[in-house]
Amino acid sequence: MQYHAFIIKYAEIGVKGKNRYIFEDALVKQIERVLKGCDGTFEISKVAGRIYIEADGFDFNETVDHLKTVFGITGICPAVTIKRDGNNQLPDIDGMAKAVIDFIDGVYPDKNKTFKVKVRRVDKSYPMDSMELGAELGSRILGAFSQMKVDVHNPEILLNVEVREKLNIFSEIIPGPGGMPIGTAGKAMLLLSGGIDSPVAGYMVAKRGVEIEAVYFNAPPYTSEKAKQKVVDLAGVIAKFTGKVKLHVINFTDIQMYIYEKCPHDELTIIMRRYMMKIADIIAGKSGCMGLITGESIGQVASQTMQSLMCTGEVVTDMPVYRPLIAFDKQDIVDISLKIDAYETSILPYEDCCTIFVAKHPVTKPRLDIIKKHEENLFEKIDELMETALETDEIIEITK
Ligand code: ATP
Ligand code: MG
Repeated sequence: MQYHAFIIKYAEIGVKGKNRYIFEDALVKQIERVLKGCDGTFEISKVAGRIYIEADGFDFNETVDHLKTVFGITGICPAVTIKRDGNNQLPDIDGMAKAVIDFIDGVYPDKNKTFKVKVRRVDKSYPMDSMELGAELGSRILGAFSQMKVDVHNPEILLNVEVREKLNIFSEIIPGPGGMPIGTAGKAMLLLSGGIDSPVAGYMVAKRGVEIEAVYFNAPPYTSEKAKQKVVDLAGVIAKFTGKVKLHVINFTDIQMYIYEKCPHDELTIIMRRYMMKIADIIAGKSGCMGLITGESIGQVASQTMQSLMCTGEVVTDMPVYRPLIAFDKQDIVDISLKIDAYETSILPYEDCCTIFVAKHPVTKPRLDIIKKHEENLFEKIDELMETALETDEIIEITK
């Protein structure tokens, strides 16, 4: 293995002025977290707006796969880095040329390639400037490998040589997920069902640095243990990116049955959703969350028309409801679901608490005043049922 280091690139968090260190520290913490799950020893350092990972005894693919789950990283550059010697000197031009030639030899078994050397000289005390270094290293490479050719416009290999606190050599930039490191925003409560949409919604908000707590409403015995396990697994998909997800499992059966008994069936879904939102709102408030997240998207189903969204959103009084998929087409959502490896789990055919009681012809244009009127039928017992549901909240801590 040629590489023994990774240089981590991050974009957005580089521009946060005085708060920059908060973001960098959060990023380092997240990198440390994912590397704990990898074979090998890793030394992470933060030098002058750069994050370096020196790696030993590691598995390349495993390490890269883990780093790809760290929000805030825009690029992962497998690198060779050369430290300064005892006199604080970087290698001279001969040493540098040798390192560069060794790098190409190790990384590219097929030398029949075009290349360009791109030098960045941050350490201005180095005796040659970047133009001179680029030209000299280019000619040394041509001397070493006769099959290689220079192409300054569209090279197959763009060899980056950085003269900084260390000498860095890299040619590949593996894309990271982007976003902001977890721990730089607050926490939000995701309404997580077993479907395709809500895990994607949770992923998207988490990508902005937000910690995720989740709530799932299940309806045993109408929904099975397998349906619950599916939601636990989907929470695990999100935890892969965030480190942990605290999942609240709320037994919704009695509430659902009561609504079924007392309210018009074509309004069931809307009224059930309103009670889910109410309960989520209460749990979120108690857990210090600053918002609710749902997987809703305008017009996707009857319960997601603009009128329905108005009715379901209306019950949340204390915090914003984030709907990151609101303007997404289903295919765009599926694409993200596939990318984050949630899809295979999401499409498992286990019953959902909402599908069991769903009406043949649900209202598509519910009117809030009418819904509220019908909810009056619930007044006798609903508070008590909600209290019981909250008291029996089962908490599952999912860590990755
Ligand atoms: P999903 O694919 O996320 O299940 P969906 O297309 O099936 O969404 P709905 O069933 O209308 O849409 O649900 C809308 C949103 O309500 C979901 O994205 C989710 O945030 C929330 N939700 C629905 N059912 C549940 C549930 N059983 N537990 C927790 N949240 C739920
Ligand atoms: Mg659903």
